[in-house]
Amino acid sequence: MRTKERALKILSLLEKNYPRVPKLFLSHETDAQMLCAIILSARNTDKQTNKVTSKLFKKYKIVSDFAGANAAVFMNEISSIGLYKSKSKNIISSFKKIRDDFDGKIPQKMEELLQLPGVGRKTANLVLVSLGKIEGIAVDTHVARLSCRFGLSKSRNPDVIERDLVKIYPRNKWSKINGLFISHGRAVCTARNPKCGECFLNRAGLCPRIGLADPI
Ligand code: SF4
Repeated sequence: MRTKERALKILSLLEKNYPRVPKLFLSHETDAQMLCAIILSARNTDKQTNKVTSKLFKKYKIVSDFAGANAAVFMNEISSIGLYKSKSKNIISSFKKIRDDFDGKIPQKMEELLQLPGVGRKTANLVLVSLGKIEGIAVDTHVARLSCRFGLSKSRNPDVIERDLVKIYPRNKWSKINGLFISHGRAVCTARNPKCGECFLNRAGLCPRIGLADPI
């Protein structure tokens, strides 16, 4: 079976098995909070991020709240998050730039989002998916691992993996890839000891990893 055909069958089974995947697993009420939560979530679990933001977002809701934050206070408020010092600096600087250069509105284009401190393609793609302005596929650790196990990319570089995935999947599916791969990566295709024996992709003969050494 050709890679593209297999990739589409994998996606179809993922859609069937995870029918209610949210655009984002991070809690938020405003677009400003959404951007802040995505930056905070880098190298942290969504659960830990949501725990911190449940308190944080009672105080910070809109762009001016984040842009006007006291650096020392904000750093302390997110101190249970990994890399909190650099994230605190990046979040406040990003919101100052949004306030001053983008008329106080969260940028809606990849090239604009990438101008914000601490925002790379993964963060920008997640923001764009949440805003319904899809330009690519957000590649996090689950997407990278599963893309490799599914035989859809040979690279470990997220940018290259994204380029491989956008060539394989039609544009109208891009917004779903991140959530579906995360769901399967958490439930079955875990980083250590994937549950291949109970995997529906295994039963359907769609995963080329079976019998091979784990590439990651
Ligand atoms: S068969 Fe194993 S490696 Fe392949 S998708 Fe399922 S859990 Fe992951």
